[in-house]
Amino acid sequence: MTEAVYTIEGVTGPWEVVIGLEVHAQVTSNAKLFSGAATAFGAEPNTQVSLVDAAMPGMLPVPNRECIRQAVRTGMAIGAQINRWSQFDRKNYFYADLPQGYQISQLYHPLVGEGAIEIEPAEGVTKTIGIERIHVEQDAGKLMHDQHPTRSYVDLNRSGVALMEIVSKPDMRSPAEAGAYLRKLRAILRYVGSCDGNMEQGSMRADVNVSVRKPGDEFGTRTETKNVNSVRFVMATIEGEARRQVDVLEAGGKIVQETRLYDPDRNETRSMRSKEDAHDYRYFPDPDLLPLVLDDAFLAECEGSLPELPDAKRNRYQDVLGISAYSASVITADVETARWFEAMLAATGKPETEVAKPAANWLTSELFGALNRLGKDIVDSPVSPTQAAQLIALVADGTLSGTLSKQVFEIMLETGEDPANIVEERGLKQTSDTGAIEAEIAKVMDANADKVAEYRGGKDKLFGFFVGQTMKAMAGKANPGVVNDLLRKALDG
Ligand code: ADP
Ligand code: MG
Repeated sequence: MTEAVYTIEGVTGPWEVVIGLEVHAQVTSNAKLFSGAATAFGAEPNTQVSLVDAAMPGMLPVPNRECIRQAVRTGMAIGAQINRWSQFDRKNYFYADLPQGYQISQLYHPLVGEGAIEIEPAEGVTKTIGIERIHVEQDAGKLMHDQHPTRSYVDLNRSGVALMEIVSKPDMRSPAEAGAYLRKLRAILRYVGSCDGNMEQGSMRADVNVSVRKPGDEFGTRTETKNVNSVRFVMATIEGEARRQVDVLEAGGKIVQETRLYDPDRNETRSMRSKEDAHDYRYFPDPDLLPLVLDDAFLAECEGSLPELPDAKRNRYQDVLGISAYSASVITADVETARWFEAMLAATGKPETEVAKPAANWLTSELFGALNRLGKDIVDSPVSPTQAAQLIALVADGTLSGTLSKQVFEIMLETGEDPANIVEERGLKQTSDTGAIEAEIAKVMDANADKVAEYRGGKDKLFGFFVGQTMKAMAGKANPGVVNDLLRKALDG
C-alpha cells in the first residue's frame, strides 16, 4: 500500500514538498564529549563547567569513550556504515556562548556513514528514509536574556555536551512522514539508550530543510529552520514553510537558501540569516585530537550490547506471539511500554505464546484507557506488571468475567491492591453455580412469558434479551458461558 501523495495546492496546480531533517540528539553520558564535567539537566548555571569547557588557554580535549560508543551503537541500530577511521574538525565561528571560538565537529570523516530508517506514516504504509551520516560534535552553551534588564548572561553547563547529528537524505514528502520519522528515530534512540529523546528538555532538536517543486522537476532551493523542538512544531514548520515558498514562487519570486527561525507563538518561520556554506566556517582537522580509530573488540562490544530493536520486536510479537498488527505496533512504539508488557508476560509464569494475546489486548484497551484518563505515563502506572498478570490469570481461570475484571481493575487503580484480595474482600467472584443460575433463569422466564412464547415461535433474536436479564439478575457475576448453556436448555429444551 502507498500513501496518498501530499501536495500543496497553488494557483498553478499542485506542488510537491521535499524534506530532509538534521536531528541533534544529546548523547546519554555522565560526562561531556571532551571533558569530565557532568551533564545533568537543570543544574544551577555554570556548575558543570570544566576548564576545557570554558576554553581556558592550553587545555586539551580528551575524547570520552562512552560518547563514541553510544554514537556507534546508534549507527549500528540503523544498519549504518561504521567508519573505523574518523576525525574531528574545527568549525570556526564566533558566538557569545562558545568561548573556544570554534565547535569541534566532524565534516570530512564522520563516525557513521549511510544507513536507513523504516517509517510507518499511516497504518499499513511503510517507507524507507535514507540516513546520510551521523557525526559527533560539541553542544554550545546558552545565553540568558531574561535575568537582567540590560545584560545577557551565559550558562556554560551545556557547553561541550556530546551531540549526535543525525542527517537524513531528502527522502520525506509530507509533514506526516517527517512526524513518523522523528517518532521512529526517537523510539530507536530510546531503545538503544543513546539519547533520552526528550524534546521538551532539548535533548532532541531538529533542523528542518524544506523545498518545493512541481512533480517531476529537479529539487528546488531549500531553506533550513533551526532548532525546532517538538514533533508537532516540525510538522507545522513544514506546512507553513512549503506554503510560503509556493506563494513566493507563484508570485514570480525566487527562494533564497537561508536559515530561518520557527516562532511557535505565531506558528510561522522568519528569516534569521542567509545560509552559509561549509567553506565559510573554514573547517580543518582539529590539531589537538588524533584521528579516532575503532578496533574489533570495541565494535564487537557495541554490537553485542544492542537490545532487540522496535522493528524486530514488532515482527516477533506478530509472528511468534500472535499479537495483532495494531497492538504489536503500539506496544513496541516506546521501549518503556515494551518493557512493561514483557514484565507482565514474565510475571504470569506461563509460556509467552499462551498469555501474550489476552495480555496485549488488555494492555492496549484497559491499561492505555486508564493511563489516558489519569494523564500518566506507563512508568507511573498505579498497577504493576505483576498485578496485571494476576488480573488476566483470574480471567483465564474463570474466576472473573470480562465485566467483573473491569470492576476489579478500577478498584486496583484506586487502591493499588492485588486483584485476588479485591475479589476475596468484595465478593466479586464470578459464579458457575448452575443451581443459582437456573433459579434466576426460571424467574426471568416467568416474568417474561410473552417473550418466551415469541422466542419459541421463531424470534431467535430474543436470546440476547434473556442473557441480559439473567446477567442483570445475577448482578453481573454469572459465568456468561454457563448462562448461555443453561438458557439454551431452558428455552429450546
Ligand atoms: P549542509 O551541509 O549545507 O547542511 P546537506 O547537503 O548536508 O547540506 O543537507 C542538509 C540537509 O538538507 C539534509 O538533511 C538533506 O537531506 C536536506 N536537503 C538537501 N537538499 C534538500 C532539498 N532540495 N530540499 C529539502 N531538503 C534538502
Ligand atoms: Mg546542515
